[in-house]
Amino acid sequence: MELDHLGDWRRTHLSKEITAELAGAEVILMGWVGDIRDMGGLKFFVLHDIGGSIQITAPRAKVSEKVLEKIDALTAESSVAVRGKVVAMEQAPRGVEVVPDDIKILNLAATPLPLDPSGRIRADLDTRLDARVLDLRRPRQQAIFKIRHKVLQMVREFLISKNFMEVNTPKIVATATESGAALFPVSYFEREAFLSQSPQLYKEVLTACFDRVFEIGPIFRAEEHDTTRHLNEVMSIDIEAAFATQDDVMDTLEELIILVFRRVREECGEELKTLKHDLVEPKSPFPRITYDEALKMLDDAGVKVSWGEDLPTPAERKLGELISDAYFIVDWPLKIKPFYIQLREDKPDLCYAFDLMYKDLELASGGTRIHREELLVKQLKQKGLNPEHFESHLKNYRLGMVPHGGWGLGLDRLIMVLTGIENIREAVIFPRDRRRLTP
Ligand code: ATP
Ligand code: MG
Repeated sequence: MELDHLGDWRRTHLSKEITAELAGAEVILMGWVGDIRDMGGLKFFVLHDIGGSIQITAPRAKVSEKVLEKIDALTAESSVAVRGKVVAMEQAPRGVEVVPDDIKILNLAATPLPLDPSGRIRADLDTRLDARVLDLRRPRQQAIFKIRHKVLQMVREFLISKNFMEVNTPKIVATATESGAALFPVSYFEREAFLSQSPQLYKEVLTACFDRVFEIGPIFRAEEHDTTRHLNEVMSIDIEAAFATQDDVMDTLEELIILVFRRVREECGEELKTLKHDLVEPKSPFPRITYDEALKMLDDAGVKVSWGEDLPTPAERKLGELISDAYFIVDWPLKIKPFYIQLREDKPDLCYAFDLMYKDLELASGGTRIHREELLVKQLKQKGLNPEHFESHLKNYRLGMVPHGGWGLGLDRLIMVLTGIENIREAVIFPRDRRRLTP
């Protein structure tokens, strides 16, 4: 069958806008073919588009031979345009259907498809990710990304309302910022450069220009994780505020988290229903437990973590069982936090750093930062880093650097929590992990 051109046809309605009140109206719909059925006297197919679907019904007696031929040629997931009349019909799935006057086949989809688009035959995640474009046409996946889209909007609105300015910092960089995390090298003309692990150093110095900044952008971590909560390319929501300490930015973070949970509950009810996720707003104020208290709670529950060690996954699991909600962990040992974190003058083993946890998942890390050069140089050396490699950063500290604090919040993990999905790969359109570089 020859394919049709779009020509002068334009969509008049989305399928979800077709209601029985429109009975008699002529409409043009565009989308993809779902189930196709031939009942002898009747041919049906489902047309699905963004946010819904509608039954297209062709009674042999009422439609042209050309329309019947077109329907015979259709394959599932082909892209089509349908011009037809709205008919109220009790037996139709939504009490309404469209009887086609004309159909345009815009593209025929291959058979068999790499994925059963109806979801009746369950596919594993790898198969779904390999056929992601088909996968993303399904209501469940659409719900996840509609929530993600809304959350990005909410985060922007909230931060802008708090006088944060949105900035974009380079993703090709010369040095590491998070000493623990591994770097992806890239060839930068005659030199070696790296993909940025974090906008940390840039956002810090920008507080001395713009006062409060935020960035929503990718961070790259070359760690060989193979978990359901780590990716190698992550979207990070980063803020940094001048003249602020960790307590100020923790308050901002808590307010943001509460607002996002509340608004997703209020505004994404349909999507949460599709996902069968009962989203519960975290109890506020979030408990603020110290690292020492966390170790004590773990010890009492039979999980040993030696002081000065980062919380390994089994410890996070146990804490999540003990505090099954959002909470902060504060007063971390200085030696497991990055060089730019301010130490506590009264207890120099500790520092002004915090993690935001949701059950057993770390959502964000932040703290009060150092703003004096001599202390920054001292901590760089203590971490075994060479201050000379940081000269282009350090020189800003001679130009009226200000006290500041901030955090980095993993967007993909936040989406996991909001949608109730268990694998971070499902929260990302085209995820990047140890084995996956396509699509
Ligand atoms: P984790 O200990 O869970 O591996 P991290 O402490 O190394 O995380 P940070 O450097 O503190 O991560 O980054 C800030 C936030 O960015 C994290 O709290 C998390 O939400 C997100 N994040 C960082 N690395 C990853 C990753 N590899 N995959 C998914 N999210 C990440
Ligand atoms: Mg962290």
